[in-house]
Amino acid sequence: MSAVIIPWNPGEPPWDRPYAADVDAVRRDGVVRQHWTLSPGVASPVVAVRGMEVWLVILTGPPAAQGLIGHGILAAVGAPGAEHVTTTPVEIDFDALLPYGDQLPLPRLVDRVPGVLAAVGRPVVIDGTDEAAMRAVWREACLPDAGSLEPAPGSLPPTACTRVQANRFERDPEMRRTVVAHRGAACHACGLDFEQRYGLDGDALVQMHHITPPEYVDADYDVDPLVDLVPLCPTCHVVAHSRWPRPYGVGELREMLARSGFLSGTALTAEQLAAEAAAARILGASSDPKDS
Ligand SMILES: [Zn+2]
Ligand SMILES: [Zn+2]
Repeated sequence: MSAVIIPWNPGEPPWDRPYAADVDAVRRDGVVRQHWTLSPGVASPVVAVRGMEVWLVILTGPPAAQGLIGHGILAAVGAPGAEHVTTTPVEIDFDALLPYGDQLPLPRLVDRVPGVLAAVGRPVVIDGTDEAAMRAVWREACLPDAGSLEPAPGSLPPTACTRVQANRFERDPEMRRTVVAHRGAACHACGLDFEQRYGLDGDALVQMHHITPPEYVDADYDVDPLVDLVPLCPTCHVVAHSRWPRPYGVGELREMLARSGFLSGTALTAEQLAAEAAAARILGASSDPKDS
Protein backbone atom coordinates (compact mmCIF):
# COMPACT_ATOMS: atom_id res chain seq x y z
CA MET A 1 0.00 0.00 0.00
CA SER A 2 1.17 3.51 -0.70
CA ALA A 3 1.51 6.32 1.84
CA VAL A 4 0.90 10.03 1.66
CA ILE A 5 3.29 12.80 2.67
CA ILE A 6 1.40 15.79 4.02
CA PRO A 7 3.16 19.14 4.29
CA TRP A 8 2.42 21.17 7.42
CA ASN A 9 3.17 24.81 7.90
CA PRO A 10 3.26 25.23 11.71
CA GLY A 11 2.32 28.91 11.40
CA GLU A 12 -1.01 28.16 9.72
CA PRO A 13 -4.16 26.13 10.09
CA PRO A 14 -5.32 23.37 9.71
CA TRP A 15 -3.90 22.29 13.08
CA ASP A 16 -6.72 23.42 15.33
CA ARG A 17 -5.27 22.88 18.82
CA PRO A 18 -1.93 23.80 20.35
CA TYR A 19 0.47 21.32 18.76
CA ALA A 20 2.31 20.67 22.06
CA ALA A 21 -0.98 19.64 23.70
CA ASP A 22 -1.52 17.04 20.99
CA VAL A 23 2.04 15.73 21.39
CA ASP A 24 1.19 15.07 25.06
CA ALA A 25 -2.22 13.64 24.15
CA VAL A 26 -0.67 11.14 21.74
CA ARG A 27 1.83 10.04 24.39
CA ARG A 28 -0.97 9.66 26.92
CA ASP A 29 -3.84 8.31 24.78
CA GLY A 30 -1.97 6.73 21.86
CA VAL A 31 -3.81 8.65 19.17
CA VAL A 32 -5.21 12.07 18.34
CA ARG A 33 -7.68 12.70 15.54
CA GLN A 34 -7.14 15.80 13.44
CA HIS A 35 -9.28 17.18 10.66
CA TRP A 36 -7.31 18.04 7.54
CA THR A 37 -7.97 19.26 4.06
CA LEU A 38 -5.98 17.75 1.23
CA SER A 39 -5.31 20.20 -1.54
CA PRO A 40 -4.98 19.10 -5.17
CA GLY A 41 -2.27 16.62 -5.87
CA VAL A 42 -3.65 13.70 -4.00
CA ALA A 43 -7.07 15.26 -3.60
CA SER A 44 -8.91 12.54 -5.41
CA PRO A 45 -10.69 10.27 -2.93
CA VAL A 46 -9.58 7.43 -5.20
CA VAL A 47 -5.94 8.19 -4.31
CA ALA A 48 -6.46 9.07 -0.64
CA VAL A 49 -7.95 5.95 0.85
CA ARG A 50 -8.91 5.06 4.38
CA GLY A 51 -6.16 3.15 6.19
CA MET A 52 -3.36 4.83 4.22
CA GLU A 53 -0.33 5.91 6.23
CA VAL A 54 0.35 9.62 6.63
CA TRP A 55 3.76 11.19 7.11
CA LEU A 56 3.73 14.74 8.42
CA VAL A 57 6.58 16.93 7.23
CA ILE A 58 7.50 20.58 7.61
CA LEU A 59 8.94 21.93 4.35
CA THR A 60 8.63 25.67 4.89
CA GLY A 61 9.83 28.22 7.45
CA PRO A 62 13.23 28.31 9.15
CA PRO A 63 15.52 25.57 7.74
CA ALA A 64 16.28 24.27 11.24
CA ALA A 65 12.57 23.62 11.79
CA GLN A 66 12.07 21.67 8.58
CA GLY A 67 11.83 17.92 8.67
CA LEU A 68 9.77 14.83 9.48
CA ILE A 69 7.61 15.31 12.57
CA GLY A 70 4.70 12.86 12.67
CA HIS A 71 2.96 9.70 11.57
CA GLY A 72 -0.68 8.77 11.32
CA ILE A 73 -3.35 6.84 9.48
CA LEU A 74 -6.12 8.22 7.25
CA ALA A 75 -9.15 7.39 9.36
CA ALA A 76 -11.79 8.85 7.04
CA VAL A 77 -11.83 10.36 3.57
CA GLY A 78 -14.70 12.65 2.66
CA ALA A 79 -16.02 13.53 -0.74
CA PRO A 80 -14.65 16.74 -2.24
CA GLY A 81 -16.81 19.57 -0.93
CA ALA A 82 -19.25 21.35 -3.22
CA GLU A 83 -17.71 24.73 -2.46
CA HIS A 84 -14.15 23.57 -2.58
CA VAL A 85 -14.24 21.05 -5.33
CA THR A 86 -10.47 20.90 -5.52
CA THR A 87 -9.93 19.79 -1.92
CA THR A 88 -10.73 16.63 -0.01
CA PRO A 89 -11.59 16.67 3.72
CA VAL A 90 -9.98 13.86 5.68
CA GLU A 91 -9.65 12.76 9.29
CA ILE A 92 -6.17 11.70 10.34
CA ASP A 93 -5.45 9.58 13.41
CA PHE A 94 -1.99 10.73 14.44
CA ASP A 95 -0.31 8.01 16.51
CA ALA A 96 3.13 9.60 16.78
CA LEU A 97 4.03 13.29 16.95
CA LEU A 98 7.54 14.45 17.76
CA PRO A 99 7.80 17.55 19.95
CA TYR A 100 8.26 20.67 17.80
CA GLY A 101 12.03 21.10 17.57
CA ASP A 102 12.76 17.35 17.65
CA GLN A 103 11.82 16.71 14.01
CA LEU A 104 14.16 14.62 11.87
CA PRO A 105 16.13 17.29 9.94
CA LEU A 106 15.11 17.78 6.32
CA PRO A 107 18.59 17.23 4.79
CA ARG A 108 18.74 13.75 6.36
CA LEU A 109 15.23 13.05 5.13
CA VAL A 110 15.87 14.26 1.56
CA ASP A 111 19.05 12.23 1.46
CA ARG A 112 17.06 9.03 1.93
CA VAL A 113 13.66 10.03 0.50
CA PRO A 114 14.30 12.49 -2.36
CA GLY A 115 10.61 12.36 -3.35
CA VAL A 116 9.69 14.28 -0.19
CA LEU A 117 10.54 17.60 -1.86
CA ALA A 118 7.63 17.16 -4.24
CA ALA A 119 5.35 17.69 -1.24
CA VAL A 120 6.06 21.42 -0.93
CA GLY A 121 2.62 23.00 -0.79
CA ARG A 122 0.68 19.85 -1.68
CA PRO A 123 0.41 16.25 -0.49
CA VAL A 124 2.15 13.55 -2.50
CA VAL A 125 1.81 9.80 -2.58
CA ILE A 126 4.88 7.61 -2.15
CA ASP A 127 5.32 3.90 -2.56
CA GLY A 128 8.02 1.31 -3.20
CA THR A 129 11.54 2.42 -2.35
CA ASP A 130 10.54 5.85 -1.04
CA GLU A 131 7.95 4.34 1.26
CA ALA A 132 10.45 1.82 2.66
CA ALA A 133 13.11 4.52 3.07
CA MET A 134 10.63 6.78 4.88
CA ARG A 135 9.91 4.03 7.38
CA ALA A 136 13.60 3.33 7.90
CA VAL A 137 14.28 7.03 8.56
CA TRP A 138 11.33 7.23 10.94
CA ARG A 139 12.59 4.25 12.95
CA GLU A 140 15.67 6.31 13.78
CA ALA A 141 13.63 9.39 14.71
CA CYS A 142 10.81 7.88 16.74
CA LEU A 143 11.85 5.53 19.52
CA PRO A 144 9.45 3.31 21.46
CA ASP A 145 9.15 4.01 25.18
CA ALA A 146 11.73 2.14 27.23
CA GLY A 147 10.20 -1.02 28.62
CA SER A 148 7.52 -1.13 25.93
CA LEU A 149 7.02 -4.35 23.99
CA GLU A 150 5.15 -2.52 21.26
CA PRO A 151 7.00 -1.10 18.24
CA ALA A 152 6.93 2.67 17.85
CA PRO A 153 3.95 3.70 15.68
CA GLY A 154 4.95 3.81 12.01
CA SER A 155 8.06 1.68 12.50
CA LEU A 156 6.30 -1.33 10.96
CA PRO A 157 3.74 -1.38 8.12
CA PRO A 158 0.09 -1.29 9.25
CA THR A 159 -0.30 -4.86 7.98
CA ALA A 160 2.23 -5.97 10.64
CA CYS A 161 0.48 -4.18 13.51
CA THR A 162 -2.67 -4.43 15.51
CA ARG A 163 -4.14 -1.94 17.94
CA VAL A 164 -4.30 -3.15 21.53
CA GLN A 165 -6.48 -1.88 24.33
CA ALA A 166 -4.45 -0.70 27.27
CA ASN A 167 -5.27 0.57 30.73
CA ARG A 168 -4.52 4.27 30.31
CA PHE A 169 -3.55 4.75 33.96
CA GLU A 170 -0.94 1.99 33.70
CA ARG A 171 0.62 3.67 30.63
CA ASP A 172 0.51 7.33 31.61
CA PRO A 173 4.12 8.59 31.64
CA GLU A 174 3.34 11.43 34.06
CA MET A 175 1.74 9.11 36.62
CA ARG A 176 4.62 6.66 36.24
CA ARG A 177 7.08 9.39 37.20
CA THR A 178 4.99 10.29 40.25
CA VAL A 179 4.68 6.68 41.40
CA VAL A 180 8.35 5.83 40.89
CA ALA A 181 9.39 9.02 42.71
CA HIS A 182 7.33 8.04 45.74
CA ARG A 183 7.40 4.25 45.73
CA GLY A 184 10.67 3.46 44.00
CA ALA A 185 11.17 1.21 40.98
CA ALA A 186 11.40 -2.21 42.67
CA CYS A 187 8.57 -4.71 42.19
CA HIS A 188 6.18 -4.41 45.12
CA ALA A 189 5.36 -8.11 45.00
CA CYS A 190 8.64 -9.97 44.50
CA GLY A 191 11.08 -7.14 45.25
CA LEU A 192 12.89 -7.41 41.90
CA ASP A 193 15.23 -4.46 41.45
CA PHE A 194 16.16 -3.94 37.77
CA GLU A 195 19.29 -2.00 38.62
CA GLN A 196 20.53 -4.73 40.91
CA ARG A 197 19.62 -7.65 38.70
CA TYR A 198 20.22 -6.34 35.17
CA GLY A 199 22.30 -3.24 35.73
CA LEU A 200 19.62 -1.19 33.97
CA ASP A 201 17.63 1.80 35.10
CA GLY A 202 14.43 0.35 36.52
CA ASP A 203 12.54 3.66 36.47
CA ALA A 204 11.65 3.08 32.83
CA LEU A 205 11.34 -0.70 32.93
CA VAL A 206 9.13 -1.35 35.93
CA GLN A 207 5.43 -1.52 35.07
CA MET A 208 2.56 0.29 36.72
CA HIS A 209 -0.29 -1.85 38.00
CA HIS A 210 -3.68 -0.25 38.53
CA ILE A 211 -5.10 -1.88 41.65
CA THR A 212 -8.57 -0.29 41.64
CA PRO A 213 -11.13 -3.06 40.94
CA PRO A 214 -12.92 -2.51 37.62
CA GLU A 215 -16.32 -2.14 39.27
CA TYR A 216 -15.10 1.12 40.84
CA VAL A 217 -13.90 2.54 37.53
CA ASP A 218 -16.78 4.42 35.96
CA ALA A 219 -16.77 7.35 33.55
CA ASP A 220 -16.24 9.80 36.44
CA TYR A 221 -13.42 7.83 38.02
CA ASP A 222 -10.37 9.91 38.78
CA VAL A 223 -7.14 8.06 39.43
CA ASP A 224 -4.90 8.91 42.37
CA PRO A 225 -1.53 7.52 41.24
CA LEU A 226 -0.15 7.27 44.76
CA VAL A 227 -3.09 5.21 45.96
CA ASP A 228 -4.22 3.38 42.83
CA LEU A 229 -0.95 2.42 41.14
CA VAL A 230 1.87 0.15 42.34
CA PRO A 231 5.14 -0.79 40.61
CA LEU A 232 5.31 -4.44 39.53
CA CYS A 233 7.88 -6.33 37.47
CA PRO A 234 6.50 -7.71 34.17
CA THR A 235 6.29 -11.26 35.57
CA CYS A 236 4.31 -10.34 38.68
CA HIS A 237 2.20 -8.00 36.55
CA VAL A 238 1.10 -10.72 34.14
CA VAL A 239 0.35 -13.02 37.09
CA ALA A 240 -1.74 -10.26 38.72
CA HIS A 241 -3.84 -9.96 35.55
CA SER A 242 -4.20 -13.73 35.17
CA ARG A 243 -7.31 -13.47 37.35
CA TRP A 244 -10.31 -11.74 35.86
CA PRO A 245 -12.17 -9.50 36.45
CA ARG A 246 -10.48 -8.74 39.76
CA PRO A 247 -6.70 -9.05 39.39
CA TYR A 248 -4.66 -10.62 42.18
CA GLY A 249 -3.64 -8.03 44.75
CA VAL A 250 -0.08 -7.38 45.85
CA GLY A 251 -0.71 -9.22 49.14
CA GLU A 252 -2.01 -12.26 47.25
CA LEU A 253 1.01 -12.26 44.95
CA ARG A 254 3.28 -12.17 47.97
CA GLU A 255 1.39 -15.07 49.50
CA MET A 256 1.92 -17.10 46.31
CA LEU A 257 5.62 -16.22 46.28
CA ALA A 258 5.99 -17.08 49.97
CA ARG A 259 4.20 -20.40 49.52
CA SER A 260 6.68 -21.45 46.85
CA GLY A 261 9.65 -19.98 48.71
CA PHE A 262 10.35 -17.15 46.28
CA LEU A 263 9.50 -14.07 48.29
CA SER A 264 11.89 -11.20 47.68
CA GLY A 265 13.12 -13.00 44.59
CA THR A 266 15.12 -15.50 46.63
CA ALA A 267 14.62 -19.24 46.45
CA LEU A 268 14.62 -20.65 49.96
CA THR A 269 16.04 -24.11 50.47
CA ALA A 270 13.86 -26.93 51.81
CA GLU A 271 15.70 -26.59 55.15
CA GLN A 272 14.97 -22.85 55.31
CA LEU A 273 11.31 -23.44 54.55
CA ALA A 274 11.12 -26.16 57.21
CA ALA A 275 12.82 -23.86 59.72
CA GLU A 276 10.38 -21.04 58.90
CA ALA A 277 7.41 -23.36 59.29
CA ALA A 278 8.78 -24.64 62.59
CA ALA A 279 9.33 -21.09 63.85
CA ALA A 280 5.79 -20.17 62.87
CA ARG A 281 4.43 -23.21 64.74
CA ILE A 282 6.42 -22.34 67.85
CA LEU A 283 5.35 -18.71 67.81
CA GLY A 284 1.78 -19.73 67.06
CA ALA A 285 1.72 -17.06 64.36
CA SER A 286 0.49 -17.49 60.84
CA SER A 287 3.10 -16.83 58.21
CA ASP A 288 0.88 -14.26 56.58
CA PRO A 289 3.15 -12.20 54.38
CA LYS A 290 0.54 -9.52 53.67
CA ASP A 291 2.68 -6.68 54.87
CA SER A 292 2.82 -4.35 51.96
ZN1 LIG B 1 7.81 -9.02 40.67
ZN1 LIG C 1 -1.91 -4.13 35.85
